[in-house]
Amino acid sequence: MSSSAAGGRLSIVATPIGNLADLTARAQNVLAAADLVAAEDTRHSARLLQHLGLSKPLLALHDHNERDRVGRILSALDEGRHVALISDAGTPLISDPGYIVVREARKAGHEVSPVPGACALVAALSAAGLPTDRFLFAGFLPAKRSGRRSALAELREQVATLVFYESPHRILDLMQDVLDEFGPERECVLGRELTKAFETFYSGSVEEVLAQLQADPNGTRGEFVVMVRGNDEMPDASGNLDADALLKLLVAEMPVKKAAKIVAEVSGLKKNELYQRALQLKGD
Ligand code: SAM
Repeated sequence: MSSSAAGGRLSIVATPIGNLADLTARAQNVLAAADLVAAEDTRHSARLLQHLGLSKPLLALHDHNERDRVGRILSALDEGRHVALISDAGTPLISDPGYIVVREARKAGHEVSPVPGACALVAALSAAGLPTDRFLFAGFLPAKRSGRRSALAELREQVATLVFYESPHRILDLMQDVLDEFGPERECVLGRELTKAFETFYSGSVEEVLAQLQADPNGTRGEFVVMVRGNDEMPDASGNLDADALLKLLVAEMPVKKAAKIVAEVSGLKKNELYQRALQLKGD
């Protein structure tokens, strides 16, 4: 634990994203020890504290008043108090308020310490079955279609797995835009209502996942994490494999579509391109 020159202590405390049992024992201890709790929605957080049998002074801190509230929090820290920062769900600062407070508290020399726990993006990625060695968290994309489309266009060639947050009323629009920008075949996984009673994962190509959502009466309810596989089908993904030679062998034995599919799977090359090449080879 780092020592603080200025005397105050700011704890950034993760709270559950749906399942109350996910609150850590340490989070509970830190909340019990805090002099002041800065919370996004004080009514919501009062219920959590009540559930823990705690009664604490609460200070509302949301996106619209964060700049004004920094002064109050810094004064409490300057007096040597212990402030806990929580958000409505999960880890503060992850698509949630707190950035200005953390930055200013650090600048003023106070101890700022994380109390880690639930975070929807990490929970979703951990169970999605998509590559996690590199990922790019883009939070909420713009609400307007034009802004969303250009944000997606910028991410189209990203090799890292892409992770987005989305609200239920925009999920179908987002998926349609992902389909339009990335094509129907890009692999994706959606995590809905994670850690809750109706937790659901939808996975497959973008086209398939969109169809699953449309077919599910609950498909536009609840909270979503959208994960899209990066554009990692590199031409050299096949290592030393001679994809063309393999394709030549296979088209002699089976339908071109099947041959292209197999070679795409083992080589990482694009199925459509291999299909065109297979047609060519068949004609030769
Ligand atoms: N700070 C939070 C965290 O650590 O994940 C995220 C806060 S952000 C305002 C809320 C968004 O997170 C939701 O719109 C949804 O995209 C995602 N989210 C939060 N809880 C979730 C859950 N239980 N299942 C799926 N997504 C969730």
